[in-house]
Amino acid sequence: MQRTRIDVLLSEQSVGQTVVVKGWVKSFRNNQFISINDGSCFDNIQAVLNRENYDIDFLKTITPGTALKVVGTIVASQGSGQAIEIDVTEIEIYGTANAETYPLQPKKHSKEFLREIAHLRFRTNTFGAVFRIRHAVSFAIHSFFNDRKFYYLHTPIITASDAEGAGEMFRVSTLDLAQPPKTESGDIDFKADFFERETHLTVSGQLEAELGALALGQVYTFGPTFRAENSNTSRHLAEFWMVEPEVAFADLHDNMDLAEAMLKHIISYVLEHCQRDLQFLNDEQIKEESQKPKNQRSELSLIERLQSCIADDFVRISYTEAIEILKNSKPNKKKKFNYIIEEWGADLQSEHERYLVEKHFKKPVILFDYPKDIKAFYMKVNEDNKTVRAMDILFPGIGEIIGGSQREENLDVLLARMEEMDVPAEELYWYLDIRKYGSCPHSGYGLGFERMVQFVTGMGNIRDVIPFPRTPGNAAF
Ligand code: ATP
Ligand code: MN
Repeated sequence: MQRTRIDVLLSEQSVGQTVVVKGWVKSFRNNQFISINDGSCFDNIQAVLNRENYDIDFLKTITPGTALKVVGTIVASQGSGQAIEIDVTEIEIYGTANAETYPLQPKKHSKEFLREIAHLRFRTNTFGAVFRIRHAVSFAIHSFFNDRKFYYLHTPIITASDAEGAGEMFRVSTLDLAQPPKTESGDIDFKADFFERETHLTVSGQLEAELGALALGQVYTFGPTFRAENSNTSRHLAEFWMVEPEVAFADLHDNMDLAEAMLKHIISYVLEHCQRDLQFLNDEQIKEESQKPKNQRSELSLIERLQSCIADDFVRISYTEAIEILKNSKPNKKKKFNYIIEEWGADLQSEHERYLVEKHFKKPVILFDYPKDIKAFYMKVNEDNKTVRAMDILFPGIGEIIGGSQREENLDVLLARMEEMDVPAEELYWYLDIRKYGSCPHSGYGLGFERMVQFVTGMGNIRDVIPFPRTPGNAAF
């Protein structure tokens, strides 16, 4: 007989049917009630057995984590808490869970503890919910772009361009670390390396995506990116996924419109398709908040926060306006910020971004037209020659979730900017070529996928929204 997934079983509720269910034991009470989860949805199915029919040594093997199959009839539930249950006629155990050493006890475990135990994390209610939602976010992104006729472009993971800051990149090499070949001048001879040049893991697929956009019109990348920055924060990973659309004939305003529509689409999709998982995370977080002192509690619950994000237009203000707001803000005047905003040109820290979003506007904010000195070389220079057409989108609880810009399409201006910023033009000849052959205005942005998942799940630490987090000192599994 075919097995029935628990999500299907629960939504169809066909009392009287015989079913086969396969999953893992969540709990086993009174040698009679087995609660089973198979990952297909948040909820468990209760299987009820007649303990007289089984010998006690067999029943002892049914412990939390045991993988099993039950066959039985769907009946209306006697107990409260579920509409239907399975009246068991047959049980088969696939794998016991060694009750003495199985680490998942019926009590609540900290997220830090669970990060240490790879197999266990997925089995918990919280991470089951998080990873089902992560899937939904990914699917929503692909459907958003597909519906708008964007092409999904796979850009390389290994790259020879270190344009965005070599200090933050992971080296890719097959040279013998202990005895690397040397040139006559004593430097490492990368000509002898696999690619006959220095290579690294990519920090972004943007430069390559620009080439795609200037032929295919509109493309997006969605792949892993790597940053060797040693920042142990709740918003940084060394390996994370980035979504980078790139659009020909689009200016900065088109870019902001696209980004806002995409973010709202993702949030709506999750609200509609992940109700049960969201409700659980929402309720857990209400419990957690109630432990905090009153003045530190968030005003909105997770679901309310998501709803409020799609209800209104995002705020759009220039960097210059933002600096004025920050200069005159209470925490700046009272020197509560770690970095005091003194003048125009200052780089914004996450504390400033979060002040704007969480305290001042209380909704998502798009900041644009940043000083050129704090932004990348490829961003289009404005007529004032002081600012560039950059935009960052700031979200409550997260800070920067998107960074993007209109790109400089003028070859001479771009070359001058590269020289100013010490970006080697020779290495990027292939990138500069699109400014020579049919250049046009174009724009794009990068969404940090995990930051998006953090926002929709309300998880405080970015490590808890990726199955196998990579951070400084962590790569065991
Ligand atoms: P931040 O200032 O927060 O470190 P950034 O300005 O260096 O970010 P970008 O280069 O603009 O980041 O990358 C685009 C997006 O990728 C960011 O808006 C953010 O959502 C995400 N992102 C950047 N670095 C990381 C990281 N180390 N881990 C997870 N997501 C990241
Ligand atoms: Mn950025």
